[in-house]
Amino acid sequence: MIFDSHCHPQMAQYDKDREEVINRALEEDVFVICVGTDLETSKQAIELTQKHEGMWASVGLHPNDNLNEKFEPEKYRELLQQNKVVAFGEIGLDYYRTKKSEDQKFQKKRFIQQLELSKEMKVSLILHCRDSKAGSSGRAYPDMIEILKNGNYVANGGVIHSYTGSLEEAKQFLDLGLYVGFNGIVTFARQYDEIVRDVPLERMLLETDAPYLTPEPHRGKRNEPAYVIEVAKKVAELKNESYEKVIEQTTKNCQNLFKLNA
Ligand SMILES: [Zn+2]
Repeated sequence: MIFDSHCHPQMAQYDKDREEVINRALEEDVFVICVGTDLETSKQAIELTQKHEGMWASVGLHPNDNLNEKFEPEKYRELLQQNKVVAFGEIGLDYYRTKKSEDQKFQKKRFIQQLELSKEMKVSLILHCRDSKAGSSGRAYPDMIEILKNGNYVANGGVIHSYTGSLEEAKQFLDLGLYVGFNGIVTFARQYDEIVRDVPLERMLLETDAPYLTPEPHRGKRNEPAYVIEVAKKVAELKNESYEKVIEQTTKNCQNLFKLNA
């Protein structure tokens, strides 16, 4: 049994074969956290998880989704109370596609509003964070760490998903009690090897972020939750641990964070 702690099987990329994709995962004992990125995809995530055992949902508004879209706490409050909703996210900061400082300011403001709701609802967080390209307008990771610390927003735990920050920042997220999520990036980009080795297995989650970020050896194809197995294999290799140990521990981590009694 293994968890894909972050993917989007509700998205349009799976309109033609969604059930097959989900069944391929479940047949391999891959359990799935289906993550929303706005109101619509959050509702779709919930719907999908009602139809399948072995799937749970997270609801949230991705930082890149429509900078004009106000965050409406009452709508998310309602979704958070639905059956099988286990987290709030993905929410966060993304300076990769949002480069203007006034837009980044808006992102931060909206992120804080979301964190306030997570505090009120006592729900764990799925955090998205991405820096701008080197040399352009700023880094998102330090801003996120500062916001989380200042507002004391991590009491209910969470994961910083698709980790691409520095090793030093990874340690700060660990100090805040958060899990660090790794996906197919670690199978094809070598600059995170040291971070994978240094983050303790007890604090690590595995994910695919499907349909994006397809791992080796499936590069060039659409990603899907069953491919989380490739991420686990690579983590095992980098950490010099057995594959069985990696999936056993990361499964426990996922069950702890999202309070699943699977
Ligand atoms: Zn995602």
